[in-house]
Amino acid sequence: MGVMNDPLTTDLFPQALLPVTLQGATDLEGFRRASRALLARQMLPEQIVWSSGDEATQDLFGAQLPGEPGEQDTFHYLSPQEFAAAPAISVPPEFLTLCQAAILHSDPARFGLLYRILWRLAHEPGLRHDPLDADMMRAQQMAHAVRRDMHKMKAFVRFRSVQDDTFNTHPEGGPLHVAWFEPEHHIVEAVAPFFARRFAQMRWAIMTPERSVEWLNGGTHAALPKEAGPDAVMAGLRFGPGARKEDAPLPDAGEQLWLTYYRNIFNPARLKVKMMQKEMPRKYWKNLPEAEMIHTLVAGAHESSIRMIEQPGSVPHRRIPVIPIADVTHTSVSAFSHAPDGKAMTSLSAVRQATEHCRECPIGECATQSVAGEGPIGARLMFVGEQPGDHEDVRGKPFVGPAGQLLDRALAELGIERDGVFVSNAVKHFKYELRGKRRIHKTPTQREAAACQHWLDDEIRIVKPQLLVALGATAARSLLGRPVPVMTSRGQIFEREDGLKVLVTLHPSALLRLPPDAKDQAWSAWLADLDQLKAQA
Ligand code: URA
Repeated sequence: MGVMNDPLTTDLFPQALLPVTLQGATDLEGFRRASRALLARQMLPEQIVWSSGDEATQDLFGAQLPGEPGEQDTFHYLSPQEFAAAPAISVPPEFLTLCQAAILHSDPARFGLLYRILWRLAHEPGLRHDPLDADMMRAQQMAHAVRRDMHKMKAFVRFRSVQDDTFNTHPEGGPLHVAWFEPEHHIVEAVAPFFARRFAQMRWAIMTPERSVEWLNGGTHAALPKEAGPDAVMAGLRFGPGARKEDAPLPDAGEQLWLTYYRNIFNPARLKVKMMQKEMPRKYWKNLPEAEMIHTLVAGAHESSIRMIEQPGSVPHRRIPVIPIADVTHTSVSAFSHAPDGKAMTSLSAVRQATEHCRECPIGECATQSVAGEGPIGARLMFVGEQPGDHEDVRGKPFVGPAGQLLDRALAELGIERDGVFVSNAVKHFKYELRGKRRIHKTPTQREAAACQHWLDDEIRIVKPQLLVALGATAARSLLGRPVPVMTSRGQIFEREDGLKVLVTLHPSALLRLPPDAKDQAWSAWLADLDQLKAQA
């Protein structure tokens, strides 16, 4: 609520300046009520000296405040009843929307400007139809700058995970994710509900020089209902004073992952420095881990794109010699299909060679080669993905591209040696669609996955793992023999008819496709799913 000095003072001295103090930099309600009372008393815009509790008082027009500093404290303030009794003013609804954004601007002159527009709307009927009015244009610029700042905060906040006291006593709630951000305007309260909804289950806090905010409902796994209204969201947010950058946590593993991802997706041929700087202005770079790499990547971009151009098209030729049927160590490879006589493959190399010839579905025809599972026989854990990707198809090995790097990273975090586990796929050939020279992954159909099923069964029978890990829906269906809703089954262990256990979780590619600001949380959740492998040891 706004406060102002006794109107008697201004009645006796009509030209006296009137200080009005709002309750904070974003006190829209106080501003509205004070403006209503001021307009009702015909207070001229140039008589008001606005300030908000957390900003220095600004004398907008170079005049002195009445009395000595501090004297205003002795004035009698208008009572809340008097504010409430002031008649409502009719303004166009767009003006209210404009005020909601412009009031968050860091310019201390914003309150004076908005009150002046309000005064003029009440006294100059033509103003609402004048698109070129200087006051209106300035307010619109302010609102635009605020909205842009909010957008940037949503895009550039980077959380780092911290194992705080709560985590040490209740690890099931996950670590606290803390971010440091330096907004230009007073936007923390306005943007916090976005993060609350987006990261409802994560424990997080955002620190800025002016305000800090913590989400109190994270880690409880009590999902915020979609229909939760703004009040319910606000109730879970605790706002506090600003912080110092030194108090923000140091880089963590999640950040390294993000850097690897950024490096991988950086396409030198598409580099447009001006556009990049527009989208990611320099002032944000200091708090973005990936920005440290920009100089190096930009510097090397010209050379890299020349190398890319000089390289031949990326559609690989079929270059794996087809192995004569007689060489395949299988008792029943006739037609290069699954064993029609019921006899099983006896070795992994037999499976590999037989899949190379498999044409039980059309995918094999277009792939470079088949990609069979890899790892030691007797491995305790078998990870099963969907199908080889572009990199895997070219190298003939499972999980060696970006999704594989993510899997490697997760295994490293969990202290599991990749060399000790068996890694395979539900489908053994790469299915794709050509777009120009690019091969774009296409999800295999159920029929295609079913046709490959027996190769996977052979691998399971030969390796004899104790626990299977289904990475994504295709793998889960192949391993459990029924459709599995991954999002609701993730982190759970199911038992098959043969007694083998299957942990269901997301495919790593699902994490790679997420928007940057969702990656950290998704990474922690994925690790939490996989962490159960330790308990099964
Ligand atoms: N995606 C998969 O499912 N498997 C791979 O081997 C690579 C990417």
